[in-house]
Amino acid sequence: MILPVVKYGHPVLRQKGARIEKITPEIKRLIADMFETMHERHGVGLAAQQVGRALQLTVLDVREVQDRPSTLELKGKPADVDEIMPLVLINPEIKPVGEPVTAGEGCLSFPEIYAEISRPGFVEVKALNEKLKPVEFRAGGLLSRAIQHEMDHLNGILFIDRMERKKKEEFREELDSLQAATKAELEIAGKK
Ligand code: ZN
Repeated sequence: MILPVVKYGHPVLRQKGARIEKITPEIKRLIADMFETMHERHGVGLAAQQVGRALQLTVLDVREVQDRPSTLELKGKPADVDEIMPLVLINPEIKPVGEPVTAGEGCLSFPEIYAEISRPGFVEVKALNEKLKPVEFRAGGLLSRAIQHEMDHLNGILFIDRMERKKKEEFREELDSLQAATKAELEIAGKK
């Protein structure tokens, strides 16, 4: 089922996700719905907060993107990124490493806002998969950026927080009107 994506201004986007201790049928359903929602919007990552659930859960899939490569290392050896796609990360812990790389970034919760964001080039990841089995790998390129972006969501951090102040000022009007529209929608929904 395709779920509505929560937009900037919704308080859930600022909530830290709760850890997942058990894969219930409900969580299983949520993971499937998050993949369906992300693929329909042509996103490369989606965090639980973006579908209104503050959980330590994100889904990723970079296979659709041809022009921005990703790299993967499993146990210190280069591996095929497709091997771990589509990817579910539960209760992830990450360590961003390497020189910062600046590249364009968007977010499904911020329609039509794209900005250059600087993040370390690589990321070391420890997490659980959809079967609560431990996964461990090192990623580079787009996958590294996407994981760092989604990890931020799980902690209530948004990509506008990582934007250069000047850049954020350029988006001020759009951000304010997006936030106002979301709040108005929430108010109407609350009165129903
Ligand atoms: Zn996002």
